[in-house]
Amino acid sequence: MSISFKSAEVKAGDVFDTIIIGMGPAAYGTALYTARYMLNTLIIGETPGGQLTEAGEVDDYLGLIGYQAADVIKVFNSHVIKYKVPQLMDTVESFRREGDYYVVKTKRKGEFKSKTIIVTVGVKRRKLNVPGEQEFAGRGVSYCSICDAPLFKGREVVVVGGGDSALEGAELLSRYATKVYLVHRRDSFRAQPVYVKMVSEKPNVEIIMNSVVTKIEGEKIVKEVEIENIKNKQRRKLNVNGIFVEIGFEPPVDFARKNNLETDENGYIKVDDWMRTNLPLVYAAGDCTNKWLGFRQIITAVSQGAIAAYSAYKDLSEGKDVKENN
Ligand code: NAP
Ligand code: NAP
Repeated sequence: MSISFKSAEVKAGDVFDTIIIGMGPAAYGTALYTARYMLNTLIIGETPGGQLTEAGEVDDYLGLIGYQAADVIKVFNSHVIKYKVPQLMDTVESFRREGDYYVVKTKRKGEFKSKTIIVTVGVKRRKLNVPGEQEFAGRGVSYCSICDAPLFKGREVVVVGGGDSALEGAELLSRYATKVYLVHRRDSFRAQPVYVKMVSEKPNVEIIMNSVVTKIEGEKIVKEVEIENIKNKQRRKLNVNGIFVEIGFEPPVDFARKNNLETDENGYIKVDDWMRTNLPLVYAAGDCTNKWLGFRQIITAVSQGAIAAYSAYKDLSEGKDVKENN
């Protein structure tokens, strides 16, 4: 699913109070609040909605009932449009300090100046890259058990992975689904033992080790997942309506390194309680940060955005400038 919105008519050299890098839920949450604080704001991103473009029904955002992800993107977008925040469809290559400003360099539209920067570049969820995965994304293929588990009540599902996300996901799904197949490529889990124990004790969870998914098939929705035992090459077809791909994330390591943003040992951008990074007047929000690792939701991304916006407003109001260290 790709939604295109009208790109902002801004020109290279324009100056802003804040530039938000990214266009996912964290960016929209940030923009709503920077606009309400009357900060002259520009959003720069390539894909309106970010990871939401790969989701189906969204049932975990307070007040939005029966919304498809595409509708959520439209609702978020319309709120930002109400506040007349320009949105430029472009990619930010880098930003640097120059005098009293940050200069933000984009791929196509040139450079912009800003007093503050709010980074909301998200993460890339790892993909299986098997036939059917892309075709059934949002129609049985999910990348977030916490988000989508309740949608699979009374159904059979597969969870793929051996880390905390997969095990935690399998445990949660076992409360909704009639049967959960947990498929992992090795013979041991990297997840915390407490999760492994919890899942192993669930009567409706079947753990299948040394196995990988080879194909996802269906009609309107997923109907079958084919797996292969990597030791004996035997294949097996699982009749399920859902497959949860919980095989980890790619944090924005290159982006952080290029822009001197400090990261934690896993590559996520380090922020304090007020979403401040190591750079003065640069904030980060959403999945790209090291905040609340393992609990990544639209509601948390949006709320981190609101906090980052407040911090930018407060720091500017108090006269902080780009030369000061955090
Ligand atoms: P996000 O959705 O990953 O959005 C990141 C955005 O930044 C994307 O638009 C991305 O565009 C853009 N971007 C990346 N690098 C950029 C660059 N250098 N210049 C400009 N733009 C750049 O992340 P988020 O907003 O932090 O959080 C999304 C939240 O929604 C997550 O917590 C996730 O778990 C949650 N979610 C929930 C559901 C559900 O069903 N409940 C479904 C999906 C996601 P590209 O994509 O083109 O790189
Ligand atoms: P992760 O720790 O990187 O684990 C990814 C799992 O997916 C691994 O078991 C890996 O297998 C498997 N995998 C990777 N690529 C694969 C592929 N192409 N095909 C099949 N399997 C593949 O990711 P995560 O579980 O999402 O956790 C990310 C971070 O968040 C971790 O630091 C985790 O501790 C944290 N987290 C914490 C909590 C919590 O504390 N409640 C909850 C969720 C996440 P191998 O084992 O063979 O490498």
